[in-house]
Amino acid sequence: MKDAMKKTIRAMPKAELHRHLEGSVRTRTIIELARKHKLPLPTFDEPELDKIVKLKEPMKSLADVLRLFTIAQSVFVSLEAVERITHEALEDAAERENIRLLELRYSPDFMLRGKGLDWAQAHAVIAKTIRAFEKKHDLVGGIIVIASRCYGLESAARTVEFALAHRKAVIGFDFADNENDYPPALFKDLVPKLHAAGIPLTVHSGEEGTPEAMRQTIELLSPRRIGHGVKAAEDRTGRTLDLVRRRGITLETNPISNWLTHAVPALEAHPLKRFLDSGVKATIGADDPGALDTDLNKEYAAAVEEIGLSLADLRRANEYAVQGSFLEGDKRQQAERWLKAAPASVCG
Ligand SMILES: [Zn+2]
Repeated sequence: MKDAMKKTIRAMPKAELHRHLEGSVRTRTIIELARKHKLPLPTFDEPELDKIVKLKEPMKSLADVLRLFTIAQSVFVSLEAVERITHEALEDAAERENIRLLELRYSPDFMLRGKGLDWAQAHAVIAKTIRAFEKKHDLVGGIIVIASRCYGLESAARTVEFALAHRKAVIGFDFADNENDYPPALFKDLVPKLHAAGIPLTVHSGEEGTPEAMRQTIELLSPRRIGHGVKAAEDRTGRTLDLVRRRGITLETNPISNWLTHAVPALEAHPLKRFLDSGVKATIGADDPGALDTDLNKEYAAAVEEIGLSLADLRRANEYAVQGSFLEGDKRQQAERWLKAAPASVCG
């Protein structure tokens, strides 16, 4: 990629809807927190650990990916650690990627499992850190609470109750991970409460699962957004994409993540361009920048170089992200103003 294009992408103000806090931990921070709290690590050498905690090639097994997250998850051991990781995730987004609207998400049951930390206290720290950051930087942000499907219905029910109890500091709710073994029907009775409370829903779907599972997710859970959704492109009848369009659902695609986890066979095969060309509100995220060795600059570069997006496509995906954001109206409007003030392309 030419340097001018890289600069243009770097300078473009961006909006991102899909980023996991647990997947956004700097390698150096993992080492420093492990030292401070006397936690075991496979190595305390940064370049060596970097090789272990980052997936740089398409995964060989799910165990590979789980290991990356287990190491990063192990350092959320204190409220100070939660604050530091949140602050650094925001700093990376604002300073390296020029992100102006960022929705961060985390699963309290995954992040805090085995730590003895109070969910409410940890959540308050994350919310406070975002608010403090917003005051000093041109960035608006919010938190989506995730139920980890693989922990089953009881954990999901507890997580829904938690989100309801902290409604004021929660912008949305997500069901994530293993869709195949934990289908949408399992969680459908939890969703009416969220809808009644006005907590918008996004669901990880059509990543590892099938177009059928994605349609069921839409029919049974009524999400406003779908995380990934790339399998919609495999439905040759076109029904799944039709449903997505008809319901006005925003898709949160994450091209490099989709390639690394084999949701798409190659980056060039990613359906993002087809989605945009067919009127689907597709957006671009980095998913887990720490664990997947990516960021939004890399995602945009891959979208242009490998998937064939134009700069106009990137801007459209950004507009869809602002429109589909779960943040309050005034924050979305602020982000819209920042995005409109984008510098002119240096590529002509
Ligand atoms: Zn995700």
